[in-house]
Amino acid sequence: MMSRLSLCVASSLLLITGAMAQDYPSKPITLIVPFAAGGPTDTLARNLGVTLTNSLKQTIVVDNSGGAGGTIGINKVAKAKNDGYTLLLMHIGMSTSPALYRKLPYNTLNDFEYIGQVADVPMTLLGKKGLAPNSLKDLIPYLRANKSKLNYANAGLGAASHLCGLLFMSSVGVELTTIAYKGTAPAMTDLIGGQVQLSFQNPINVIPHIKAGKLKAIAITGESRFAGLPQIPTMTEAGLPGFNVKTWFGILAPAKTPKDIVNKLSTEFARIVGLPDTREKMIGQGLEPFVTNPDQFAIAGLTAVLVGGLLADERHAMRHGAVGHLGAVRDERVGEPRRVHPVLVRIEHVEDEVERAPFEAERAHADV
Ligand code: ASP
Repeated sequence: MMSRLSLCVASSLLLITGAMAQDYPSKPITLIVPFAAGGPTDTLARNLGVTLTNSLKQTIVVDNSGGAGGTIGINKVAKAKNDGYTLLLMHIGMSTSPALYRKLPYNTLNDFEYIGQVADVPMTLLGKKGLAPNSLKDLIPYLRANKSKLNYANAGLGAASHLCGLLFMSSVGVELTTIAYKGTAPAMTDLIGGQVQLSFQNPINVIPHIKAGKLKAIAITGESRFAGLPQIPTMTEAGLPGFNVKTWFGILAPAKTPKDIVNKLSTEFARIVGLPDTREKMIGQGLEPFVTNPDQFAIAGLTAVLVGGLLADERHAMRHGAVGHLGAVRDERVGEPRRVHPVLVRIEHVEDEVERAPFEAERAHADV
C-alpha cells in the first residue's frame, strides 16, 4: 500500500508534469533532421516546422545533423534532454539500422518516445540525364551489361535510398558500386552532374529536376502513379511487381519525455498534417500525409525494427513496410558483401505470423 508521503510525492509529480505540459512550449524547439539540408527529410521538417511555429507560437529550429545514414542525428536526440525541446524527424531507416550497424550508440527501442507518423513516401528510380535506357525493361539488361561502370548514389548506410537500392539490386540480380552521401541533396548534386548514374529517391525535391530534364525518372514505387509525375509508371507497371517500397516518416523524442508533452505534440502534428493547406502541399511534393498516434507508431516502429532489422526474408519485410535487404548487405568499409542472419523473431503484429530459428546475428561492419 502507498504511504501518505509517497501519495503526496506522486500527486505533486502529477501536478508538476501537468503544469509543464500546460506551459509547453515556452522556448524554441529543435527538430533534428539526421540528413543534409535540401533533401526530402529536411524539406518535410521545414514545411511542418513553419506551420508548427505558427500554431505553437514558438520557433521550430531545424538542425541538420547528417552522416552515417542518419545515425549521428538520431544519437543526438537519444542523448538530448527529455523535456520536449529536442525532437527528431526520421524515416524507415530507424528500423533497419539495428541490422546494418554492428554497434549503434543508441537503443532504437528503448531510447525514444514515438510521437507519431506524419507521412508515407514512395521512392522514384532515377537515372542521370542521358542514361541510355528509358524504361525498366531496357534498364535491367543495361545494368547487367555495364555494372562495372555504374555507381549507385545513396544518402548513407541505412538511408531509405540505400536500402531501396540494395533491394532493387537483389531483385534484378545485379550488384553496383554504391556511393554514400550525407543525405539526398549532395547525392542528387552528383547524379545531376553525372558523377553517379543511378539512385532511388523520394519524389520531393527531385520533381523540378525531372521536369527540367536534368534527371531521368524510370519508375516509381507505390500502388498507383504519383499525380505530380503522371507519366512515370509504377514499378509494377514497369515490370517489377511487388516492389512496393514506401518510406514512413515520423516524429520522435528522447525516452521519458513527459507523457503530456508527447500527447500534446502528437495531437498537434496530427492536426497540422490534417490541415487542407499542409495536405495539399505535401501531396504536391509526393508526400502522402499519414498520421498515427504514439501507440500505433511505437507498435509499427517496433514491428518494423524487428521485421526490417532482423529477418532475412526481405520480401516479407517489404510487405510490412520495412525495407530490409538483409540477404547481401554490403559492407561499405571493406567492400565485401556479407550476410546478416536473422535472430529469433516472433511478432504479434504482422499479418502472417513470422517465426524463425535463432541465429547468431552477424552484423555488417558498419560502426558509427
Ligand atoms: N530521404 C533520404 C534517404 O534516406 C535522406 C534525406 O532526406 O536526405 O534516402
